[in-house]
Amino acid sequence: MTNAEEKELECFMEGLKKRNPHQEEFHQAVHEVAASVMPWYLQHEDYRKAQILERVTEPDRIIIFRVTWETDTGEIRANRAYRVQFNHSLGPYKGGLRFHPSVNQSVLKFLGFEQIFKNSLTGLPMGGAKGGSNFNPKGKSDAEVMRFCHSMMTELHRHIGEDIDVPAGDIGVGSREVSYLFGQYMRLENRWSGVLTGKGQSFGGSAVRTEATGWGCVYFCEHMLQHHNEDLAGKRVAVSGSGNVALYAAQKLIEKGAKVVTLSDSKGCIHAKDGLDQEQWEELRVLKEENRGRLNAYESSGVEYHDGAKPWGFACDIAMPCATQNELDGDDAKKLVKNGVIAVAEGANMPTTMEAIDTFRSNGVLQAPGKASNAGGVAVSGLEQSQNAMRISWDDDEVDKRLQDIMKNIHKRCVEDGGDGEKVNYIDGSNIGGFKKVARAMLAYGAV
Ligand code: NDP
Repeated sequence: MTNAEEKELECFMEGLKKRNPHQEEFHQAVHEVAASVMPWYLQHEDYRKAQILERVTEPDRIIIFRVTWETDTGEIRANRAYRVQFNHSLGPYKGGLRFHPSVNQSVLKFLGFEQIFKNSLTGLPMGGAKGGSNFNPKGKSDAEVMRFCHSMMTELHRHIGEDIDVPAGDIGVGSREVSYLFGQYMRLENRWSGVLTGKGQSFGGSAVRTEATGWGCVYFCEHMLQHHNEDLAGKRVAVSGSGNVALYAAQKLIEKGAKVVTLSDSKGCIHAKDGLDQEQWEELRVLKEENRGRLNAYESSGVEYHDGAKPWGFACDIAMPCATQNELDGDDAKKLVKNGVIAVAEGANMPTTMEAIDTFRSNGVLQAPGKASNAGGVAVSGLEQSQNAMRISWDDDEVDKRLQDIMKNIHKRCVEDGGDGEKVNYIDGSNIGGFKKVARAMLAYGAV
């Protein structure tokens, strides 16, 4: 970046921070995109005059509401919920709902903002949104989760619709929660419509949606490695998290002959020096998905549990952060580089801090940013919307084939916009590629 471009970026960020005080995650997400697109933006006077960057960083609207619900012991609880409808230039708003105590406006604005460009990269007609609540589903009974979801939808249903806004799952929101939300939507509206994705397959859900984000991340990682004359087979991969994304990334990695050496949760990490096998993966899936257990309860030969540890201190060739934002910091990146990591593929959204990104960049580590490498989930959600609209359902092979094509095309787009140097800059590639398409649409609409 030239000095003039850097100055423009600084000035833009100063204004954004003033308009959105104390929203650090949102500042970080915007900075990453703005730093990539600034040189292109400054060369295009028409976009600049139309204030596209200023407009795209301002959500269309944010809906904030109270969710009141009752515990099994008859106590009343009140949580705060949000829907950030960020930008619908390319299609109906689309993005997940997160239930986690850390949910606040900054987190949902960063996620909604990222979603705009991720959805743009998929090539499907979807705008960007995100929502959720500070409700913690951990330790709650099914009945309590149901009452919370029903109460949340009692307000949310006014703001969504198959051509308006189509939420899905995210951290803490899996098929149980999506089903409760969908059931209440139908009761309130008295109509069936594809207004949520990630539904059960027997009532309109898509094949491969559960697997899509994790599998898609592995497909992207494979393209990235092959583009740089490397391969996945035999590589040791440190995966973080043990939720939806992490589990299915691990499954696909094992299938492709890579060694999954770690999985983690917020309390600690399991380490399998020689990699997990299929049987161990299935045991872990049952523990996490069916029994909602914790990793410290897992015992198997060749697998050690490390209380309080993160995966990044263990030797690996590839790091695949699949848990949460900013889970891999500068010190973690230095450890990974020291241990010889060659690539990072993000399954989670913004899991890598800016300091870690700098460390990877200056050490020539390939880095696939979440908005490209984890786009498989929303892509299959987009396919679920199409199947619902056509009242048809595709089988596993058909959806998987489409998912693979989409991930291949996203990789191609990243190379087109980030591929000047010896190694592709996937962060610039995904930001510029995703941004240009949204910017073109916004310019065409005029000052709306
Ligand atoms: P899940 O709720 O299924 O799993 C989340 C996992 O991350 C759990 O193992 C959880 O551990 C761990 N985790 C959560 N918060 C923290 C934390 N603060 N520190 C350490 N570990 C933590 O969520 P998903 O797998 O669906 O989502 C994971 C990431 O992937 C998120 O960033 C999400 O936005 C992103 N993503 C998800 C998509 C999807 O289709 N599901 C699509 C695209 C992106 P614990 O159980 O102990 O909390």
